[in-house]
Amino acid sequence: MLIVKKFGGTSVGNKERIFNVARRCIKDYQEGHDVVVVLSAMGKYTDDLITLAEDINEKPPKREMDMLFTIGEQMSVALMGMAMNKLGVPAVSLNAFQVAMHTTSAHGNARIKRIDTDRIRRELDNRKIVIVTGFQGINKYDDYTTLGRGGSDTTAVALAAALHADACEIFTDVDGVYTADPRKVPTARKLKEITYDEMLDLATLGAGVLHNRSVELAKKYGVPLVVRSSLNENEGTVVKEEVTVERMLISGVALDTDAVRIAVIGIKDKPGMAFKLFNALAVKNINVDVILQSIGRNGMKDISFTIDGKDLEDAIAVLEANRARLGYQEIHSERNIAKLSIVGAGMMSNPGVAAKMFESLFSAGVNINMISTSEIRITVLINENEGVRAMNAVHDAFDLAD
Ligand code: ASP
Ligand code: MG
Repeated sequence: MLIVKKFGGTSVGNKERIFNVARRCIKDYQEGHDVVVVLSAMGKYTDDLITLAEDINEKPPKREMDMLFTIGEQMSVALMGMAMNKLGVPAVSLNAFQVAMHTTSAHGNARIKRIDTDRIRRELDNRKIVIVTGFQGINKYDDYTTLGRGGSDTTAVALAAALHADACEIFTDVDGVYTADPRKVPTARKLKEITYDEMLDLATLGAGVLHNRSVELAKKYGVPLVVRSSLNENEGTVVKEEVTVERMLISGVALDTDAVRIAVIGIKDKPGMAFKLFNALAVKNINVDVILQSIGRNGMKDISFTIDGKDLEDAIAVLEANRARLGYQEIHSERNIAKLSIVGAGMMSNPGVAAKMFESLFSAGVNINMISTSEIRITVLINENEGVRAMNAVHDAFDLAD
């Protein structure tokens, strides 16, 4: 078998943990498997790099940021290579250039285009454990790129797809995917299985366990994914196309407190305005989520939408630059909001799921600002300071507790 194993920052946070990971990989290797290991930067090292950068320049160029970021993962893989060597097992560490891992040019948010597998194959054929830097890539200008925060998961899945791996295991500091973040909802329960689609929504909506692009890729290429703890031998959660056990009404509740809301007031009520507005944002790579448009009056309408908090400054700048074309009266932004979502393939065939969610929020006295739905999810916008309470209320209402 060819196994891709990915370990996050806490799993390689110190010497003991590095040796723990090395031993887990060596166990598979000694059973005769080919092992490719993908690592994140140690502990909170990536955050420390950001602090260091912003101390020099509050708005560092994205290219230089990527240049800086890549040292974190490079440090992890080199130390892991040394640990395996110390344990007497042949291993080789490779960075994005050495692999090579080709991505789009977008610094800080690049997408993987193609992975050369020759070098990795050669090393595996020589019976080495191959340790690859997560999160980083190279673009057509031979510059380093990164895949966005948490992107090492995506590196792992992309490698698993490119190498036609038999398994892709994502090791983290929790036991798997839960019905809600256990730090916010103490009664949350670990799921045995979840579908790609549900996982994709949960990851996108703030569940935090997996980088959403990794789930997208896993679905596209049918990569069998397992999310499990690096600190124990528990089974973890399998992410796959169809689940066979415990089909429930909903699978999880997610809370995203990074979202901000922008309201564009008094935009002209005529064809093409929504296009112009969202196109201007799209050109700047700003992702828009929940959108609400008011009914027109006096030839005017309002459009509100949510974006990620980190994009707020850029979004306001784009809107101001396009003020003449869009012809709006004013823009408002609101940071004190949160997106609360429920996700579940079960809601497709069961009416009344939305009503049940709204009832639980009503009972908890939580006001809903905006609503958006898809086949398998319902998202409401609420005040951020009510977020955790609302999340618990909804989690209880759907009997998701242990
Ligand atoms: N080290 C990067 C981050 O902290 C990538 C990752 O951990 O997946 O975002
Ligand atoms: Mg992560």
